[in-house]
Amino acid sequence: MTNKEYCELLAKHAMTTYRPAPIAFVRGRGPYLWDADGQQYLDFLAGIAVCSTGHCHPKVAEAIAHQAATLIHTSNLYCIPPQALLAAKLCEISFADRCFFANSGAEANEAAIKLARKWAERKGLKGRTIITAEASFHGRTLATITATGQEKYRKHFVPLPAGFRYAPYNDVAALAAAIDDEVCAIMLEPLQGEGGVVVPAEDYLAKVRDLCNQHGILFILDEVQTGMGRTGRWFGYEHSGVTPDIMTLAKALASGVPIGACVAKEDVASAFEPGDHASTFGGNHLACAAALATIAVMEEEGLVANAERMGAYLQEKLKGLGGIVAGTRGQGLLVAALLKAPKAREIDIACRERGLLINAVAEDKLRFAPPLVVGEAEVDKAVAVVGEAIEAVG
Ligand code: PLP
Repeated sequence: MTNKEYCELLAKHAMTTYRPAPIAFVRGRGPYLWDADGQQYLDFLAGIAVCSTGHCHPKVAEAIAHQAATLIHTSNLYCIPPQALLAAKLCEISFADRCFFANSGAEANEAAIKLARKWAERKGLKGRTIITAEASFHGRTLATITATGQEKYRKHFVPLPAGFRYAPYNDVAALAAAIDDEVCAIMLEPLQGEGGVVVPAEDYLAKVRDLCNQHGILFILDEVQTGMGRTGRWFGYEHSGVTPDIMTLAKALASGVPIGACVAKEDVASAFEPGDHASTFGGNHLACAAALATIAVMEEEGLVANAERMGAYLQEKLKGLGGIVAGTRGQGLLVAALLKAPKAREIDIACRERGLLINAVAEDKLRFAPPLVVGEAEVDKAVAVVGEAIEAVG
């Protein structure tokens, strides 16, 4: 079947929640994808910051195939060996003592919200409200669209769950002013991804940590997009010198096999008792084997350090384009090019037509989130195509 045939079939039978580009990918390898018509693309979006080890890394593919042929699912009514190994590994590389596994970023955040409220109940706190940031993004379930500080995601879906309030991002005074005895936690992204790759002041997270300590409330970091090496550290909080009480992960954790994780220190995690939370698929054999192989590849190939190096190189190259590119921002390989005119969508399409995948994260911002395996040659190639696309758009 061709791109056109697949896309027509999808348009006819899939619910219209997306407006997909007219491309049907059928194969991938490293930073490259091929569509049903045989066209090759350089992928600088990685399935929205998911495929960090590159498409179909042989070791990840082999681990998935082996696990699929051995045992896929048994449920959390029994001990799941790859889940035990993955939980131990995540605790080794992060601040956490315990993990809960889900199937997506939104589900990981649901777990974090429930854990914070259960912790508050156990502590005897009055408050159950969670403060989140304006322009944040935490997912598409009812609780997580309510946590998301963007009206456009919420407006058609009332009634929404109670217990969320918003404060401007990167504004410690406004956050402090929003805290009262109704509040049990603050939930933030260490760097706002969907909000336009917004990097806060260097001391912002440390100041939020202080605020949480002063008020005896929890600090939750949503690292669904920033976690697992994307920012040039295993986790975004490592840039700040402080740790959260709860962290959520998903996206890159298993190279594209659906998984989410909510991790926490023992004194918080212990608020969850048997029966408080559950997931049929969460942490199953297949997803956890894929995550273990992903982490092993990242360690063997030094991909966290590569993200830092290539991120700096990408920002330098993008700045060199000049013209409509006013500047760049980001951390590691989560980067935005800031445009002087609202032409991001046109440039995105022009890049795609030239075999490069990026994303218009706002009218005037292009987002780059390539696989963490890219080298200078791929960065040079991608930036050259962006330059050509900018010229073509005019
Ligand atoms: N949190 C953040 C910071 C995200 O960027 C996203 C997705 O973009 C989510 C949560 C939701 O993740 P999912 O789409 O896996 O539910």
